[in-house]
Amino acid sequence: MTEVRRATADQAAFRDELIARGLFLESGVPGLYGRGATFEDIRTRFDGLITNAAAVDEPEAMRFPPLLPRKQLEASGYLHSFPHLAGSVFAFEGSEEDALEQEERASRHEDWSAHQRMTELCLVPAACYPVYPVVAARGPLPAPGIVVDAGGAWVFRHEPSEDPARLQMFHQREIVCLGAPDSVLAWRDRWSERGLALLRGLGLDAARDRAADPFFGRGGRMLAANQRKQELKFELLVQIAGDEPTAVTSFNYHQEHFAGKYGLKLADGDTAHTACLGFGQERIVLALLRTHGLDPASWPDEVRRQLWDR
Ligand code: ZN
Repeated sequence: MTEVRRATADQAAFRDELIARGLFLESGVPGLYGRGATFEDIRTRFDGLITNAAAVDEPEAMRFPPLLPRKQLEASGYLHSFPHLAGSVFAFEGSEEDALEQEERASRHEDWSAHQRMTELCLVPAACYPVYPVVAARGPLPAPGIVVDAGGAWVFRHEPSEDPARLQMFHQREIVCLGAPDSVLAWRDRWSERGLALLRGLGLDAARDRAADPFFGRGGRMLAANQRKQELKFELLVQIAGDEPTAVTSFNYHQEHFAGKYGLKLADGDTAHTACLGFGQERIVLALLRTHGLDPASWPDEVRRQLWDR
């Protein structure tokens, strides 16, 4: 059993309040919640703000299910960098006798994995992952590149925690830029300004900082140090609950990482570069609830106007 990350007293109290107010619907598993109507209303309205802010890029919309072909996850490098966060789908294969034994074990909540076999499916770890192979399959990118809006997709991270801001499944609004290196980097930097202004415009005390991904193991520490040094990743952080601010948005410059793995080329035959941004929608809703109060009817007019009167 994976260890559950403990919450601070402040985080635990915030989670209890969210559940008591029907904003989060408890499942009994840390980091897995249903969402009440008010929570979901705020989330989808924030999603609308992103759609408006992104319109200037004329993105191509793509939507994907929260499952990824196993081959795509294997090709992406995810199992090298984040084996601890990945989730894969297993399903029953066996005889009637095996099914009975499985049911018997399940009835006592014992391990019933013995008759489960790996399928061709994994859980999507980041909303941009399904985009790269689809775009690569079309052939070389038009100059200077394209922008794809992957929507507010469900993503999975295996990191059970009692902190209500660290969910095992959540919505990530991802937009991806694929093209020539300088235009991809310029896009990422424009968006990091735009994202900061957007969050501050909602009354959130957001700050931008260099960041690194939670790479696995000893080799991972080097990857993370390199990522920081090269300024490949920026995050926007907001104080939610607990002692430290929480990352609610990230802007990631992958250089040739994904393009190399999937064979994404520019018209002149060079390997393309890619960048993506992701707004963690649940974390932003939590930041709004924490900052302005649990009842959106009493939020400042300026914030309400942007979310409800557009
Ligand atoms: Zn991404």
